[in-house]
Amino acid sequence: MTKLQPVRGTRDLLGAELLRHRKIQRIANETTALYGYAPIETPIFEYTSVFTKPLGETSDIVGKEMYTFEDRGGESITLRPEGTAPVVRAIMSEGLTQTLPQRRILQGPMFRYERPQKGRYRQLHQISIECIGISTYHADVEVIAMADHILRDIGLKNVVLHLNTLGDLGSRLSYRNALVTYFEQHQDKLSEDSLARLQKNPLRILDSKDQHDKQVCANAPKLIDHLNASSADFFNNVCKALKELGIKYQLDDTLVRGLDYYCHTVFEFKTADLGAQDTVLGGGRYDGLMEQMGGPAMPAVGWACGLDRLSLLSTHLDVAPPNPIACIMPFGEAEELPAILLAQKLRAAEVYVELLLQGNFGKRLKAASKKDARYAIIIGETEVKAGTYMVKDLRAEEGSLHKEQSLTLEGVVGLLGV
Ligand code: ATP
Ligand code: MG
Repeated sequence: MTKLQPVRGTRDLLGAELLRHRKIQRIANETTALYGYAPIETPIFEYTSVFTKPLGETSDIVGKEMYTFEDRGGESITLRPEGTAPVVRAIMSEGLTQTLPQRRILQGPMFRYERPQKGRYRQLHQISIECIGISTYHADVEVIAMADHILRDIGLKNVVLHLNTLGDLGSRLSYRNALVTYFEQHQDKLSEDSLARLQKNPLRILDSKDQHDKQVCANAPKLIDHLNASSADFFNNVCKALKELGIKYQLDDTLVRGLDYYCHTVFEFKTADLGAQDTVLGGGRYDGLMEQMGGPAMPAVGWACGLDRLSLLSTHLDVAPPNPIACIMPFGEAEELPAILLAQKLRAAEVYVELLLQGNFGKRLKAASKKDARYAIIIGETEVKAGTYMVKDLRAEEGSLHKEQSLTLEGVVGLLGV
């Protein structure tokens, strides 16, 4: 039997929710353009290797969430679970590694096999931005300030910027060793997932959502105590600039992000209004990624935000569809074609009109009022013969001078046109 529901974790988008998505996308495009970000679109599937190594075998995405399949040619293909690795792949494929910096915005669906719930879907929608080719803290500040700018443009309240640093490779190695020693002493309290990560990627345990893990993590060593001088400097510069810009943040030493490729600055904008799905936007610096994918060493920083979650938080956005300016009503069948012709002429003059072709005339007039149209344009036998139109102003007082006027085509366009 054919199933008529969309696949679990996916949904049809329509009505106000889709209009909110579109509006937020528009705001993101306009705001990022002020910072010089140009659009990019990558295919929604890639060779699986684009994701496995860069994201890391121990990441949730690679370990449990990817939609991977063999295509008919025997290639392993993955529906993209995130946008950074595909954009970095595209910059290399398109030969743009000499044209730097690359500032890019990507919008579109991502696919993750997760447990569906409010704000968590298997086809999710993201807006992601990447700033590739700048090694200094200025780029980190730029992308965070831009995220803050967009969230303010959308009118989001109750979002808090959480900020942390993972330092450079040297700092992370020293921290890693301290973490392994600490977690080994608390092995009996760790979840199975975390035990599996203990040797491979202990930092990831700090990202666990398991309650017992969280308790153990509370007393874990802090990365800040393992930062070398240049990493500490880098982070101080980011913090100082954000302060100067008046962008409030909370230092959060448990913030490590879920993917292998991050270093230095990591950040998330969180809300208390969405239950467990509390992160609306997250990102960080990923200097090692391009080299890991077979390209040149390349500094980069970026973020991704969840459009589905933003939309859930943005019911204040006005997305009511516009009302027609006029409804055109032919009396009978003989007047239908002139009505269709008039409608096309008005649309060519950028006037939104609706044709109400059939049914009881009184009911059609009521329908026009209900749609909040300003005018009803009535076409009967007399009008067709005279080449005119009866224009009724649905908002004018009964009996007033302009309640009903007989106008030529030019007259109608003049009255309704912009
Ligand atoms: P979470 O911890 O909630 O799983 P994440 O760290 O996996 O998030 P990222 O990979 O950083 O998320 O993706 C960036 C943003 O995309 C998230 O902050 C969130 O807003 C959104 N997002 C991630 N996964 C989903 C999903 N399954 N459904 C809807 N939005 C999502
Ligand atoms: Mg996730």
